[in-house]
Amino acid sequence: MDERPGRPPRRLAREEKTIAAMIALYCRDHHADVVGPDGGLCGECSALLEYARLRLAKCRYGADKPTCANCETHCYRPEMRARVRAVMRYSGPRMLRRHPVLTAAHLADRHKTPRTG
Ligand SMILES: [Zn+2]
Repeated sequence: MDERPGRPPRRLAREEKTIAAMIALYCRDHHADVVGPDGGLCGECSALLEYARLRLAKCRYGADKPTCANCETHCYRPEMRARVRAVMRYSGPRMLRRHPVLTAAHLADRHKTPRTG
């Protein structure tokens, strides 16, 4: 086990990877006219990803947290929460086909119970 302070636990690294993939998928299908042909995220989606990363890093549940969508602690600002929910609603089902392993792990994490303290 290599979980030194300052390094995100693997569990959080995986969620970060999942949310990044979901945002990328959503952005490409919704904001293609903004980002141009070279890909990458538009400004709005980059900001959303940055925000999601920050929330993950500060999450009080740490490695035992459920996925953000199922978390009882609503740490997102309402506006950001609405955006990330739209992303998950759109990309969730599509992710299963594109990233089956990542998504299966994500779904399995949903059933974890948050432990406080
Ligand atoms: Zn976008």
